[in-house]
Amino acid sequence: VDRQELMARIRTQLRRKRYNDCLRESVQNTIELAVRDPLTGLHNRRYMEHHFASVFEKSQRQAQSLSAIICDIDHFKSINDGYGHDVGDKVIQEVAKRIRKSIRDADTACRFGGEEFVVLMPDTDVHLATTTAERIRRRVSDHPIFLEHGAMKFSVTISVGVASLEQDNADDSPKTLFKRADTALYQAKNAGRNLVVTEAA
Ligand code: GH3
Ligand code: MG
Ligand code: MG
Repeated sequence: VDRQELMARIRTQLRRKRYNDCLRESVQNTIELAVRDPLTGLHNRRYMEHHFASVFEKSQRQAQSLSAIICDIDHFKSINDGYGHDVGDKVIQEVAKRIRKSIRDADTACRFGGEEFVVLMPDTDVHLATTTAERIRRRVSDHPIFLEHGAMKFSVTISVGVASLEQDNADDSPKTLFKRADTALYQAKNAGRNLVVTEAA
């Protein structure tokens, strides 16, 4: 084999490999962009809606429990109004981090709206879900959020609504489960905030 030709072929193959790796990475990045919230790195609402439907279907088919938690930062508007949107964003990021650290790998956390988060917990009954919700609430409220290298300190709280799939209710759907968690969240807000409310059984 001609040495020059061999070198040229190796170079061509290496170029091709590099190009393919780039392409693969770019496709992967595009997929990530489509399913992740850029601010927090949590899943986005679109992903959650698809995921919720499939997890719900699986839970019903296998007669397993499933719980949903909705968290909303209390009086968040006052942080935005008082310190600006950028500071508000950093608070959202820190709350997201604490939520992610409080849940299992099997659970899915998503940023559902501005300062609202949903956690979907397969194979989790209402008691375990309430315990988890309480853990999340405490991880947010027990330690202030420090920003700007400690120059700014925020005591942030969240309100949390919890609901679980009712195995004996054939009419239950992702939508009704979500609605029940949202109603519980609304009750937590009305009852004074910094609270977990679990839907009445
Ligand atoms: P409550 O305790 O009733 O939840 O009061 P709140 O002030 O948190 O509730 P409200 O829903 O009135 O305010 C949410 C605010 O979140 C309004 C909006 O300006 C802000 N917001 C929404 N998305 C973002 C975002 O991406 N970044 C920042 N910094 N703020 C956001
Ligand atoms: Mg709020
Ligand atoms: Mg809100």
